[in-house]
Amino acid sequence: MAVIIDGKMLAKKIRQELKVECEELIKEGIKSKLAVIMVGDNPASKVYVRNKSRACEEIGIEYEEYLLKDDIKQEDLIELIKKLNKDENINGILLQSPIPDHLNINEAFKTITYRKDVDGFTPSSVGKLCIGEDTFISCTPYGVMKMFDEYNIDLTGKNVVILGRSNIVGKPLIQCCLAKNATVTVCHSKTKNIEEYTKRADVLIAAIGKAKFVTKDMVKKGVVIIDVGINRNEEGKLVGDVDFENIEPIASYITPVPGGVGPMTIAMLMNNVIKAAKEQNNQISKL
Ligand code: NAP
Repeated sequence: MAVIIDGKMLAKKIRQELKVECEELIKEGIKSKLAVIMVGDNPASKVYVRNKSRACEEIGIEYEEYLLKDDIKQEDLIELIKKLNKDENINGILLQSPIPDHLNINEAFKTITYRKDVDGFTPSSVGKLCIGEDTFISCTPYGVMKMFDEYNIDLTGKNVVILGRSNIVGKPLIQCCLAKNATVTVCHSKTKNIEEYTKRADVLIAAIGKAKFVTKDMVKKGVVIIDVGINRNEEGKLVGDVDFENIEPIASYITPVPGGVGPMTIAMLMNNVIKAAKEQNNQISKL
């Protein structure tokens, strides 16, 4: 039987710590404020954005939302980001993805000033992560690393296998795990015989977006499983990329879906907004 890594509980603990920190900052006259830009009417994005605004409210972070029509021009989106970059009252800027296909999301991310890049997606943040400098770390990978810390899972010398190489999850995780002295292997849709890699994993991180892709025969006994995937099964229930029921009895640690990595992502976003507010007010960030 595996230890269930309780992301919901850990995220709550982090949010409570951040609330205290936010109150202390307010006493010193420092407010924290997040601006969220959403383009179009994506139902999943609406849920994510609502959860982010609720978390801000709970912690005491001010929140501003920009809902743009899905036919907005690239130059108008860029113009808005530049305006928010200059706005002294805004500490963090988040562009909710996906955005409509006619827009260039990388160009938009690149426009966000490094100081307010609370999602950790700008080339400056990514570059700093690669060379081991303090930076904004993309929220989902950051949340995964916090889970390892909390459960004293030492990655030194471990074979960490990451499934997925997206810019927001898989790639930053490579750097985060390398920094913890793991030996890192990354698999993707063109990887042949993927089970040859997964079977060697001491720690397996699945972030591909395919329901129950990782099955019991693909992992070894005692594996640590981090399931980043969020999928709906035939009954509309949320499931991860991992066959939880069959793997849990042989794993040493495992994250559930829901209640695993998901809540950690929002907690780390809140952390990054407070980090941004402190740094913009010349304070050293604690976390
Ligand atoms: P993404 O951008 O679609 O990337 C998916 C990655 O998985 C790609 O690198 C792709 O390979 C790889 N892949 C797809 N099919 C594969 C297969 N059959 N075998 C091996 N690799 C395969 O997705 P993402 O944004 O990283 O998200 C991944 C999952 O995590 C999704 O379910 C998403 O909803 C979830 N997610 C959860 C959170 C959270 O807070 N819990 C946050 C972000 C994302 P190629 O590069 O070759 O195409």
